[in-house]
Amino acid sequence: MNFILDGMLGKLTRWLRMMGHDAKYSTVLDDAELLAVAKKEQRVLLTRDFALFQQATVRGISVYCVEGNTGPERLAELYGRFRIPLEIDLAVSRCPKCNTNLASVPKDEITNQVQKNTLLHYNEFWRCPNCGAVYWQGAHWIKIRATLQEAKEKVKER
Ligand SMILES: [Zn+2]
Repeated sequence: MNFILDGMLGKLTRWLRMMGHDAKYSTVLDDAELLAVAKKEQRVLLTRDFALFQQATVRGISVYCVEGNTGPERLAELYGRFRIPLEIDLAVSRCPKCNTNLASVPKDEITNQVQKNTLLHYNEFWRCPNCGAVYWQGAHWIKIRATLQEAKEKVKER
């Protein structure tokens, strides 16, 4: 799905990108600009701001007001509203930093970008063709999986 998020939702933006969604995010756009981009680019506006939610609704823009305060709560909410799968597959992920589709990259092309230990333990790497950031399912994935699991449990509780 295509989203645009208000300046309060940077972390959720990164999650959506990792989950493969086109998520625009800016801390410099004001309300009028957020509404204009959402309308022009047919994006769903996600916001914490109820006044902005109401303005979007009046203008016929797809909008959702995010209520949860934690990552898992917010992901569960988005599942409830949009049925977006609570999974991350780096093969379809977008760069959490810049929203560009990641590309699989051979190990020997990133030897100077990641630590030796990482090269030793992991075989699959992805790189952002735009900003050059390299990703792999390293130790930090334990936390990522735990957050997704927690979100799925919250879905069941809802
Ligand atoms: Zn990038």
